[in-house]
Amino acid sequence: CGVFGIWGHSESAQLSYYGLHALQHRGQEGAGIVVTDGEALRAVKGEGLVNDVFSEENLKSAKGQAAIAHVRYTTAGGGGIENVQPLLFRSSTGSMAIAHNGNLVNANHLKQHLERSGSIFHSSSDTEVVVHLIKKSKKPGFRAQVKEALSLLKGAFSFLILTKDCIMVARDRNGLRPLSLGKLDDAWVVASETCAFDLIGAEFVREVEPGELLIISDKGIEEDRFVEMEQRAMCAMEYVYFARPDSNIDQINIHMTRKRMGKRLAQECAWLEADVVTGVPDSSISAAIGFAEESGIPYELGLIKNRYTGRTFIQPTQELRERGVKMKLSPVVQVVKGKRVVMVDDSIVRGTTSKRIVNMLKEAGATEVHVVISSPPMKNPCFYGIDTSTHEELIASSKNVEEICEAIGADSLTFLSVEGLVEATARPFDDENRGLCMACFTGDYPTEIFSDTVLPHEK
Ligand code: SF4
Repeated sequence: CGVFGIWGHSESAQLSYYGLHALQHRGQEGAGIVVTDGEALRAVKGEGLVNDVFSEENLKSAKGQAAIAHVRYTTAGGGGIENVQPLLFRSSTGSMAIAHNGNLVNANHLKQHLERSGSIFHSSSDTEVVVHLIKKSKKPGFRAQVKEALSLLKGAFSFLILTKDCIMVARDRNGLRPLSLGKLDDAWVVASETCAFDLIGAEFVREVEPGELLIISDKGIEEDRFVEMEQRAMCAMEYVYFARPDSNIDQINIHMTRKRMGKRLAQECAWLEADVVTGVPDSSISAAIGFAEESGIPYELGLIKNRYTGRTFIQPTQELRERGVKMKLSPVVQVVKGKRVVMVDDSIVRGTTSKRIVNMLKEAGATEVHVVISSPPMKNPCFYGIDTSTHEELIASSKNVEEICEAIGADSLTFLSVEGLVEATARPFDDENRGLCMACFTGDYPTEIFSDTVLPHEK
C-alpha cells in the first residue's frame, strides 16, 4: 500500500490526489482521501485506480486544510469497499481516520482479545485493531492513548492518523516500510515514497524514524516516540522491485541501487557469454542497464510492456492463457531473433511468469535464454505486507537453482547473492545487513511471528 498526508494547505485534497497518483504502483485495488476543515472529517473513496475513484466534483466537495490518503495493494480475498482506506471512525468523543501501509503480525491475536472484551469489527483489515486499542486505552489524553496502542503492535506499519486537530505519523520499531517527511511551503507532507514529493513540488526533510511518532498540527511539528527503535530492518524488496525508480529510501536512490544490483550480478556471473541483455519491464530495466554496463554485453529493448491491458478473465485453455501473457508483454523479434539473450528479472516467486517469458523469447527466435535475477532465491513467505505467497507456492522453497532453471526452461539461471544485494544497496547503516530485512531470502525474520499470523493474501 501507499500512504500520503498533508497538513496546512487549502488544496489538501487536490494535492493528496496528485500524491496518490505518484504512489499508484503501490496499490491498485482501491484509493481514498479523508480531509478535515478543522471541524468535521469527510471521506472520498472507492475501489479501483486513483483516476477511477476521484473526479473534479468529489474532490471539490472535499474542502479542508489537511488530509490523509491511501492506495490499497491487491491482496486476494481482502477486497470490498469496507477495506478501502483511510478508514473513518465517527465518535462523539472525536472522529478519526486512519491509513496504514504494512501488515501486523499480531493482529489476530489482538483482535481475539478485543472481541472477548466486546469490540465489534466491521472490516477484515488489521488496521481497525489499532483504532479499538486507542478507544480502549485508559491513558489520559489522545496522544498517550495512541502511543500505548502503537506500542502493542508487532510487525510492519507506517500509520497516518487524522483528527480535526492534527495528523499523527508513526512508523514501526523496525522501520520495515518506508515513510518520509517533506515540506511544501508552510505545509507538512508525509508519503510512503519521495516520488510523491517530487510530483507536488515538496522538499524532502527526513525519514520518519523507526518507533517515532510525529504530531503535526497548527502548532507545528512535535517529535515523540512510542517505543525505542529495535533492529533496523527496511524491506529489501522495496529496493528490488516495489518502490519507484525515482524514489529515494534512506536517501538511497532506487534506480541507482537497481543498477548496482545489475552490475554486481554481472560480476557474479562473469562466465556468461551472450549477445544482448534485456530487462523485464518495468522494474528490471534499471538492473538490466547495470548488467549491460558491467558485462559489456549491449542492452536492448527485447521486451515491451503493454500498459493498456484489461484483465485476462477466465482462461480455459492453455492457448488463451499464453495469449493473456502476450497481452501484457511482447518480445521485440528483431532484437532477440538468432541471439543469445540475457533476460534480467527482479525475482522468481512461483516460476510461472519466468517460464512464460523464457518461452516467449525462444518462440521469437532467441537461440539461448540466460535468466539472471537481481535478488536471491525467495524461500520464505513475507508476513509484512508484500504478497509473496505461501511456502508451498514459492518455487525456491522446494527446488534448488538447477531444478528451477529446468522448470522455467532457461539455458542458465543465476540469482544475486545475499551479500551482493546488501552491498548493492550501499545503505549507510552498520546494523546487520545494513539495516535491511532479508527474511524472504534468509528466513531470519526481524520480529516475532505468532502462530496465528495471517499472510497478507489470506485475509
Ligand atoms: Fe520485504 Fe522480504 Fe522482509 Fe517481506 S520478508 S519485508 S518482502 S524483505
